[in-house]
Amino acid sequence: MDIFCKIIKGESPCYKIYEDDDVLAFLDISQKYFGHTLVVPKKHFANTLDCDDEILKKVILATKKIAKHYVDDCGVSGVNILNNNGKEAGQMVEHLHYHIIPQGKECKGKEKMDFVEQQKILKLN
Ligand code: 5GP
Repeated sequence: MDIFCKIIKGESPCYKIYEDDDVLAFLDISQKYFGHTLVVPKKHFANTLDCDDEILKKVILATKKIAKHYVDDCGVSGVNILNNNGKEAGQMVEHLHYHIIPQGKECKGKEKMDFVEQQKILKLN
């Protein structure tokens, strides 16, 4: 079982940002960027190319909702939304995920901020 399936099942911890019936979003463990967030479908799909269209729509709309929340409500200037498909394209975890990476001067120097503090600033529900 991949690590994101374990997180979805509650068998591995995460700092949750958003959840609905089909989608979970949580902070990336790497701490390279402030607020680096991963948005995943609860049902397992390897990547975008493999994903059922209805679920993909839900994941992308949740990604948009979270990214918009970061910009509109959390004081972030902009966001990168990224998605890798396949090992050769840099995909390390074989469970569909969209990266949201907040950008702007207000994010600089906060890369190593405690996850609980980042969660308090960014949590959507
Ligand atoms: P990829 O290269 O597959 O697009 O990105 C996978 C991401 O998952 C990486 O940014 C990596 O830091 C993150 N990651 C890997 N293992 C874990 C984990 O156990 N928990 C969390 N929250 N993120 C993880």
